[in-house]
Amino acid sequence: MSRDCDAIGCTTPTASGRFMCLKHWRMVPKPLQDTINDRYRTLRRDFAFLSDVAYLSAAVTAINRIAAAESKQGTNPYQRHLALAQKRSQGGTS
Ligand SMILES: [Zn+2]
Repeated sequence: MSRDCDAIGCTTPTASGRFMCLKHWRMVPKPLQDTINDRYRTLRRDFAFLSDVAYLSAAVTAINRIAAAESKQGTNPYQRHLALAQKRSQGGTS
């Protein structure tokens, strides 16, 4: 099983369970890598990491940094997940 790398504009096949292809993963600062790995491992069941604010903020930051470094324009899919997760974590009933 493989999927596309999550960096904007990158279609390098990436093993499922990996956030990015190796080239892009190496561009992610270590503290962000740690957060992404830890939260992913803890929450991989039922894709719970997709509603985890810590995981999603790290993912959004990592993707945006790489996009800026490579001058890539595009939609960061994690941004939407993060907005939703933040709304939920505020205990919003709205
Ligand atoms: Zn990539």
